[in-house]
Amino acid sequence: MKENIKSMFPEEIKAALRDMGESEYRGDQIFKWLHSGARGFDDMTNISKELRERLKERYYITAPDIIKKQISKTDGTVKYLWRLYDGNAIESVVMKYKYGNTVCISSQVGCRMGCAFCASTLGGLVRNLEPSELIDQVLFSQLDSGEKISNIVLMGIGEPLDNFDNVMRFLKLVNHPNGLNIGMRHISLSTCGLLEKVDKISTYNLQLTLSLSLHAPDDETRSRIMPVNRAYGVDSVLEACKRYFDATGRRISFEYAMIDGVNDTPYHAELLAKKLRGTNCHVNLIPLNDVEESPLRPSTPQTLRAFTDTLQKSGINVTVRRRLGGDIDASCGQLRRKAINGNRS
Ligand code: SAH
Repeated sequence: MKENIKSMFPEEIKAALRDMGESEYRGDQIFKWLHSGARGFDDMTNISKELRERLKERYYITAPDIIKKQISKTDGTVKYLWRLYDGNAIESVVMKYKYGNTVCISSQVGCRMGCAFCASTLGGLVRNLEPSELIDQVLFSQLDSGEKISNIVLMGIGEPLDNFDNVMRFLKLVNHPNGLNIGMRHISLSTCGLLEKVDKISTYNLQLTLSLSLHAPDDETRSRIMPVNRAYGVDSVLEACKRYFDATGRRISFEYAMIDGVNDTPYHAELLAKKLRGTNCHVNLIPLNDVEESPLRPSTPQTLRAFTDTLQKSGINVTVRRRLGGDIDASCGQLRRKAINGNRS
């Protein structure tokens, strides 16, 4: 069984070189090649042919191919559908903001969380992504688009905390000064709220932004649209968020997809305001993106405005997320979904 060399830290590559009887200083060179986009060992021109052949016997390098690339005409958002080494497909989206380019990356092939409004979960979980496959989405989006990526959001397909160890390793790799060198403050991780894992990540004291997909302030509504809530409950989720803030000093960002008639009534707005009052947080209201297979629809603009007003009157920081890439299926799992459906028909 070959090992994934791009998921290794420089120290691990050096240790492996030592074991092979090679000089370990090649480790830093190899790490740099991998994290600047080498697709194979033969790209590493300052490494001897002999060592390259020995490495090929022991290691593989992940480097996805572009199956499809869509560029939004309205805002320049670029969406990639990638083919992984085993034929699976995942998506990443590059968004252009005034403060820099952000890439939204996937953490798993599919998802097992079962949220009623999300296209990513429809076929269940296929497998976890390896650390290098998270790196690749940032690296090859940057190389292909020619745009420097300065921010990462783990908000694509999958539940990052359900792939905890690989995601933690990715965070350290992407942060490495000889790698992509993207600081923790420029990374957001979005989760449906796997509580033990939220508590575990608090102990790492990373300067990472935690986005919590709340979507409802009461258990009845949240359990209806997010099965994961049946295991924890809204109040426990909010308490875990508070512990994250206490441990890291990082303000939590709550995601709230506005779904017509489901979670957008005055009752929901007032209860949300009541539960979040005094919490150091930010609420992102996202008009639901239509998913073909789902009967759920986005809230009307009037409802969205009334909901925003209720929160603001309670002194809660709230923004309505701008919709980027609406013309290119740029939300969660939609492109992969179409590719899978297309292959079947
Ligand atoms: N599993 C993680 C990250 C992936 S989803 C999580 O649950 O946070 C990223 C965000 O998009 C989440 O807040 C998710 O709830 C939201 N989302 C999923 N489908 C959506 C849709 N159709 N419209 C709007 N937001 C959606």
